[in-house]
Amino acid sequence: MILFLDLHGEASLSARQLEAIENLAASGINGYQFVTGTRRTLDELSREPKLSSRARSYFRKMSQQMTQVGNQIANLDRLLVTFEAPGNPDVPSISLDTFCDASYCEKTQLLAENLTDFDVLTGLSKILLAKDFRGLQLSLRAQNGGGSTTPQVLLHLAETPSGPIVCVVDSDRKFPGGALGSTAKTTLRDLKKACDRWRVRVHVIEQRELENILPFDLRRHCSAGLSKDLQDQLAALDAVDAFYSHYCCLKEGYSQCTMIGDLAAKRRPDLLQFARNIAYTGLPKVVACGTCQVPGGCFSSPALGKNLLQRAALELKSNSSVTSISNWCADLLRIINAVVVLGLAPLPQRI
Ligand SMILES: [Zn+2]
Repeated sequence: MILFLDLHGEASLSARQLEAIENLAASGINGYQFVTGTRRTLDELSREPKLSSRARSYFRKMSQQMTQVGNQIANLDRLLVTFEAPGNPDVPSISLDTFCDASYCEKTQLLAENLTDFDVLTGLSKILLAKDFRGLQLSLRAQNGGGSTTPQVLLHLAETPSGPIVCVVDSDRKFPGGALGSTAKTTLRDLKKACDRWRVRVHVIEQRELENILPFDLRRHCSAGLSKDLQDQLAALDAVDAFYSHYCCLKEGYSQCTMIGDLAAKRRPDLLQFARNIAYTGLPKVVACGTCQVPGGCFSSPALGKNLLQRAALELKSNSSVTSISNWCADLLRIINAVVVLGLAPLPQRI
């Protein structure tokens, strides 16, 4: 997280304020949080005799790097750290005193529904980092939500003094504009109860699940070890309308008639025609189940269990060129950007 110090107007710093500034400097030196500030603040702190020489050196270094680093982070979300917060309600800010508790200066926590999601999200984030933020690093600690218990874990973390939290959950939507599943719904509801809102961000994947927005080049690499049939089906999915491919279930399979049934149950006759007319080739046909609404023509997505994401995580770990950002859909880019911005930190420094 970018913690942007704007500290002016106090004749002399109190013991509490000095302690908070020391904690912030240590966080920057360790590469945990991106602690920087206005040029004037950085210069003043680099000359403040009551600070340790380590802290002074850190602020001097940040001031020297201001021109270069300032450009990299110019348009990114930041949290203003001031003596008195909040000032302008449109600018997210926090009081310096908060950081007297060094726990708030720890690494950012990426809370995902499981550790495979975490690995995929961080793998993709590293690719974006390498492209847009050379010389910086990701400082992320894994937090495992355990699927449906993710909201509980989020509340627990938000109530425990600790680093910022970026939480990514699947929407579990069954069609475009469909209702959120219970995990996403509860997570968003519980976010409102969280006391430390300033350090908590929740991002819901617009499409059904993370699998649905894996870029096709990564998906192709993942399918290498699968059976020929599954490989062909995954490749075929790239050609199917996003209306279906972004909302089908790749863990258990999702047939066309199930989608039609879900639309009918949620009273979305406006979308039924789309679902009836999905153009597909190469996806496995479903033997009529007895209640099928498209008898003879029904098809389903491949059912891969947890296979696809686990393979994606492995691919990303071993090779960062398995996917090109130009193939990412807008929502994937939005999510990964959010993770990178909250996890962004300078490299650990020897001071
Ligand atoms: Zn069917």
